[in-house]
Amino acid sequence: MKEIFLKIAERNGEPEIAGIEKAINEAALGQRSIIEELLNRDIFNEEDFLQGLAEELNISWEENLKTINKRKLREVCSAQLALKHRLLPLSFGDGSELIEEEDPDDAGNALPADGEPGNAEHREDGSSGASKGKVRLRIATYDPFNFLARQTASQMIDSPIEWSMASRTRILQGIQELYGVGADTFEQILAGRDLDMESLDVDRDEANVLDDDDEEASVVKFVNQIIREALEQRATDIHVEPLHDDLRIRYRIDGMLHEIAVPENIRALQSSVIARLKIMSKLDIAERRLPQDGRINLSLDDQQIDVRVATIPTVEGESVSLRLLNQEKFNLDRLGMIDHTRERVEELLKMSNGIVLITGPTGSGKSTTLYTFLSELNKPETRIVTIEDPVENKLDGVMQIAVRPEIDLTFGRGLRSILRGDPNIVMIGEMRDLETAEIAVRASLTGHLVFSTLHTNDSIGGISRLTDMGVEPFLVSASVRAFLAQRLVRRLCPSCKVKGEYPDGYLESIGFPTQLEGQPSVAAEGGCERCRQSGYLGRLAIYEICLVTPAIENLIVTGASTAQIKETAISEGFITMREYGWQKVLSSDTTVEEVLAATTVELNVGGKQHVLSS
Ligand SMILES: [Zn+2]
Repeated sequence: MKEIFLKIAERNGEPEIAGIEKAINEAALGQRSIIEELLNRDIFNEEDFLQGLAEELNISWEENLKTINKRKLREVCSAQLALKHRLLPLSFGDGSELIEEEDPDDAGNALPADGEPGNAEHREDGSSGASKGKVRLRIATYDPFNFLARQTASQMIDSPIEWSMASRTRILQGIQELYGVGADTFEQILAGRDLDMESLDVDRDEANVLDDDDEEASVVKFVNQIIREALEQRATDIHVEPLHDDLRIRYRIDGMLHEIAVPENIRALQSSVIARLKIMSKLDIAERRLPQDGRINLSLDDQQIDVRVATIPTVEGESVSLRLLNQEKFNLDRLGMIDHTRERVEELLKMSNGIVLITGPTGSGKSTTLYTFLSELNKPETRIVTIEDPVENKLDGVMQIAVRPEIDLTFGRGLRSILRGDPNIVMIGEMRDLETAEIAVRASLTGHLVFSTLHTNDSIGGISRLTDMGVEPFLVSASVRAFLAQRLVRRLCPSCKVKGEYPDGYLESIGFPTQLEGQPSVAAEGGCERCRQSGYLGRLAIYEICLVTPAIENLIVTGASTAQIKETAISEGFITMREYGWQKVLSSDTTVEEVLAATTVELNVGGKQHVLSS
């Protein structure tokens, strides 16, 4: 067998013979699959390698994985078989057989029998005794040497099987799309276990350990699978939403909502799934009419994950939203700031007092920046206290307080007690009102370094926001050291980005620095598997920093307009968020379109403020 792999390696021009031999030997020793071992080690390009193998073994190769007649496939090939052995059933017979197979029992759901063959996947059909044993089931595998899988499949499936091959990534994706997350567990649960509520109450007082599933199928395991899948897909939120006749599960990934495939009939478990989530978050499971908030502490691969849970009673039933707060590692490098901004930020972090304000709308990544700054400053000899609404990430060694208006623990009240506790550094989740702003100003003037956020679009707009709140201009100029505005843009997928072509003159017209080296990259149409066909993977922040220099202090005190302040700032080296964005386009991290979309509002608002203040 080794010869085949070496031959493919040679043909693909990958001379890593030693690595291949090592993988084969180690797989044999550990009684693991050689194919999995080779793929896990990234020795080969997955697609090329498996296609080469298919050719060598004379097995047909699936260029496009398309499942036809999904319901029938799920019926013939159980989720347990498909998920356990990683097999993807593709089609059952051809169009003509589908029509003959139509079962009158399913008439309620069935489309007319004269539907076009192309619609086959929407059509219902049960199995009829007559066609059994003749119709072939086509199944894709990526490990043709997995004899156990082939054996089990032929025992469990009562039809001849036609094997083909495709890449692992595509097969695993296909299995999940066909069956839905947690389908194997779901199938077993439906196959006759009692859904007594007691069994949901596992680990009530302990951390919920996601990777510690018991062998047995249960709602507990099913819910864990949904959460684990979300984490694997880097989702930030999970929404479990009852619809009129179905239960929908959506993940938010990179800011966009994606509906995920779930097992058919998942509605049968709706109340158990929701009850389990409420138990995990220590909520009152009997209370279904009022919204509730809770938390879950999860553990996956020894990593702690904090989950904030909110239930909302809707007319169709209770919906549950989970926000997954990964215990991120915060450090300045991860913010990816350009040198200009990074140098200024590092200077700010060395100060012993003053206010640093981060501005931007909700969802612009302000919290990540705040937490990063605090993490940089978090030393044994520094006392850091925060007041937040709510505490999104826990930082070791930092005293964090959550605002609780219901017991009158407001930002203002919390802050006053914080300051009595002699901190060096204070972080205020948001500066919402004059009371909070005034306490912050006083704190900074009495030797504290204060970080907070403001709800304005650009950096310089923060000045008028504070004075509009009622803070005296001379206090703004005396206490605030910098306004840092930010937005998130999508990051280009490193695996598939391509160089873009723009019409003559377009880039100049939007102010893109064409005189600099390099053409802007764009997202590849259709993307690739790694980025879920979107062309983008993750997000990055673009910034604009306005330092309150002596010249700007003067302008603030004399009530100068935003435009005047901006002009002075630019003469002192200020870089607008859009210009910052162009730097990130030139380094191929994002696109012209992303930067334009993220910074257009900022320009409009800037214009409006100019009108207002002049
Ligand atoms: Zn991609």
